[in-house]
Amino acid sequence: MQLYKTQRLKVYNSLTSTKELFEPINEGHVGMYVCGPTVYSNVHLGNCRTFMSFDMIFRYLRHLGYKVRYVRNITDAGHLEDDSDEGEDKISKKARLEQIEPMEVVQRYTVDFHNILQKFNFLPPSIEPTATGHIIEQIEIIKEILDKGYAYEINGSVYFDVNKFNEDYEYGKLSGRKLEDMISNTRELAAQDDKKNSQDFALWKKAEPQHIMRWPSPWGDGFPGWHLECTAMSTKYLGENFDIHGGGMDLKFPHHECEIAQAEASNGQSPVKYWLHANMLTLNGKKMAKSTGNNILPDEIFTGNNNILSKAFSPSVVRFFMMQAHYTSILDLSNEALLASEKGYQRLMEAIAGLDGLKTSATSDFDVKELRQKCYDAMNDDFNTPILIANLFEAVRHINLIKEGKEQLSEEDKNILVETMGGFVFDVLGLETKNDAGKDSETLSGVVELLIQLRNEARANKDFATSDKIRDQLAALGIQLKDSKEGTTFSVS
Ligand code: AMP
Ligand code: ZN
Repeated sequence: MQLYKTQRLKVYNSLTSTKELFEPINEGHVGMYVCGPTVYSNVHLGNCRTFMSFDMIFRYLRHLGYKVRYVRNITDAGHLEDDSDEGEDKISKKARLEQIEPMEVVQRYTVDFHNILQKFNFLPPSIEPTATGHIIEQIEIIKEILDKGYAYEINGSVYFDVNKFNEDYEYGKLSGRKLEDMISNTRELAAQDDKKNSQDFALWKKAEPQHIMRWPSPWGDGFPGWHLECTAMSTKYLGENFDIHGGGMDLKFPHHECEIAQAEASNGQSPVKYWLHANMLTLNGKKMAKSTGNNILPDEIFTGNNNILSKAFSPSVVRFFMMQAHYTSILDLSNEALLASEKGYQRLMEAIAGLDGLKTSATSDFDVKELRQKCYDAMNDDFNTPILIANLFEAVRHINLIKEGKEQLSEEDKNILVETMGGFVFDVLGLETKNDAGKDSETLSGVVELLIQLRNEARANKDFATSDKIRDQLAALGIQLKDSKEGTTFSVS
């Protein structure tokens, strides 16, 4: 059904800072690119929030009847430690520390990423390309940018010439920064920096002898700059102009700004019609991040094995919690918020479970079609899931009144209500009725806690044979106990 013809979607475009009517370049078709994870460690819940926001957007676009090509990449090379052109490659560093191949790092954390997303009931993207699979395409773009005069080669590296580009285009238009301000705010170039100006960024970096991830190029052995992969892969699979580019707010600058500059410098065209940015998940009021340690892993929530929350929460409850906030708002994770979401989720699921059995009457006491349209209006207003959920709870209220015999519903309206609830709750929000992943983990958590207690008692009685047996047999089952001053915790491998 081509619902998009009647349901007029508006999206907040970061490029224009306005809500705009969504009109794809080719009617009925949407090309969407979202920056994927850098696979050097487990994805934390903050990363999941951004990907979940775009999963919801993907789901709603499909629900409206668009044919969507959704490309979400895997960054498996080129992302340096400090997000600029310095430091070690994040994946190489992990490989060096663990003494394994970089591709083993990539494989391990790509598998983890997919496992977690599956638990959260994500739809797979249409294409999931990797940076290392597109080195040739990246080299071709560098050649084009060099030919057009917007880059320079120096000592085997190639840098994007931001000043030269800014003479003909506008660098900073997405993030609202002015090049003059950037110049006056930048630090002196470090002595080992080859680039002419500190705002220039690497398109290709020469690989020093110890750098493991390297490829031959016209400029010698090296590796691509972080921003280039997304330009190469989005152009290859979606074309020089496509509809939606997404990612977390923190990628607006420099990553997305540089993507625009690369595309414009190589083919003269602004690549993206609508830039969508998802806001951050915070913990204790601070951005969740790998680098600061202020984060929680999804599995730590599903098992309850963490020091932040009072109990385990299932993926559906966590998903519902995320959907209760607008994707452009900051969301803070807390025990109270998750407990409240769990209650709300259960109330919603109970109402849905009772839908089929609702008795029907000749007429209805409330306007189901109006309620359905309110759900669409919410989603058409830049994917406003909290308002959608408020409307779904309005439906829950009616469902409960009908159950109690205090309101009536016609057969025709009942069918609309079933379709509306199913469509929005399962297809659009991506919630599932099963809440058992959390239950299983909760049970496991309870059993391990009990064994930890018995082990502590054995140790107190100097019965070390029993306490070691508990520890070793749990380890054989893949459950590691860790003793510290605060007590004993466990992890499941
Ligand atoms: P990375 O693997 O570091 O490249 O990040 C993957 C995605 O997660 C990017 O789109 C980031 O913007 C996003 N991200 C990182 N931290 C958070 C956070 N605390 N909340 C929401 N999204 C985040
Ligand atoms: Zn990207």
